[in-house]
Amino acid sequence: MIQLKSPREIEVMAAGGRILADTVAYLREQVAPGMTTLELDRLAEEFIRSHDGAIPAFKGLYGFPGSVCTSINEEIVHGIPSAKRKLAEGDIISIDVGVGYQGFFTDSATTVPVGEIDETSRRLLAVTEQALEAGIAAATVENHIGDIGAAIQKVVEDAGFSVVRDLVGHGIGTEFHEEPQVPNYGKPKRLMRLTPGLTIAIEPMVNVGSPKTRQLSDRWTIVTVDGARSAHFEHTVAITEEGPRVLTRPQR
Ligand code: MG
Ligand code: MG
Repeated sequence: MIQLKSPREIEVMAAGGRILADTVAYLREQVAPGMTTLELDRLAEEFIRSHDGAIPAFKGLYGFPGSVCTSINEEIVHGIPSAKRKLAEGDIISIDVGVGYQGFFTDSATTVPVGEIDETSRRLLAVTEQALEAGIAAATVENHIGDIGAAIQKVVEDAGFSVVRDLVGHGIGTEFHEEPQVPNYGKPKRLMRLTPGLTIAIEPMVNVGSPKTRQLSDRWTIVTVDGARSAHFEHTVAITEEGPRVLTRPQR
């Protein structure tokens, strides 16, 4: 069922979204060669809980052990923070974070270079972020869910990369994952009409090589089948009459 939010509820999500935006910005600054993904997880949990009433939404969600998902290089999403996993110069790390605040959730992800990265990785990060922005720009009341996916897919495929199809964005609110699904591919004017009060996580996952995925034996981590790198950028967005409102955008 689609849960539309009232203007008051969207303000609550925006307040949680600001905490999440600050968390993501803080974690981006912390990433450095030599640190473990568990250290990043601890920093995230401490930072989120330092805000009164805010909780790390991933902790325990479907049984996930961490406060963030940390996915390195060919790992697409759902990587488990680990004391054994050290970041190395040249890696890229996708950090996916959720915050719960006053009964509502927000969701955001970013991919961060670890020190100097190669040219293809730099382009992958730039294109994935551009694809997210194109998807957000398409999230208007004149459009449908399919317009978001079409906009994302065009940016990605024009750049010669591929869109992951096995994982999609989603509605978000009192539940972390709500209807509707928000694919990162598709055709304009297809799927649900975008309605004021709809709140969705738009989250392109973009691969350098094949779009195909597989799950590791840890039952969480999703990787590319060909071992090529993948990036992930995500914002929580409210559909309003005035246009898309990004609830997890960092304040400058
Ligand atoms: Mg996320
Ligand atoms: Mg999400």
